Amino acid sequence: MSRPVKLRCVGQLPSAGFFRPVGIPANALQEVCLSVEEAESIRLKDLEGLEQEECAGRMHVSRPTFHRVLEVARKKLADALINGKAIQIEGGNFGLPQSRFRCNNDGHEWNVPFETLARGLPLSCPACSSLNIQPMPLPPFGWGRGRGGRFRGGRRW
Ligand SMILES: [Zn+2]
Repeated sequence: MSRPVKLRCVGQLPSAGFFRPVGIPANALQEVCLSVEEAESIRLKDLEGLEQEECAGRMHVSRPTFHRVLEVARKKLADALINGKAIQIEGGNFGLPQSRFRCNNDGHEWNVPFETLARGLPLSCPACSSLNIQPMPLPPFGWGRGRGGRFRGGRRW
């Protein structure tokens, strides 16, 4: 049995999902792609100024893992800034501190805490025990691009 990919907890989604430099023709424009959890590492460490230990705790990962994620994120941002590349934020393996789920059987809605999702157990509807449930869509970000799914390639909860 393969180990499920470990989810990282993301406390706040970015307000925009696509950034591009002015003055670079579209056919010459390259882009870097940041996962949502990489953006979160920048937010916690560089914007909120938290210690790495604290950042790691917030994202429910070990300190070395947090450090790795942060280094990758910073490198991508530096590459975009210096080499004039666009930045796309999408995808990844993350969950919110609370995710809202909906039952397709009886329409019941409820919140699931991150810790429950991270344990990877199958979830069922607390009202009717149906397994026919799905996560509610995340609030949209990344307007102005229209290139398909906002969380392409990533789990949505
Ligand atoms: Zn139900």
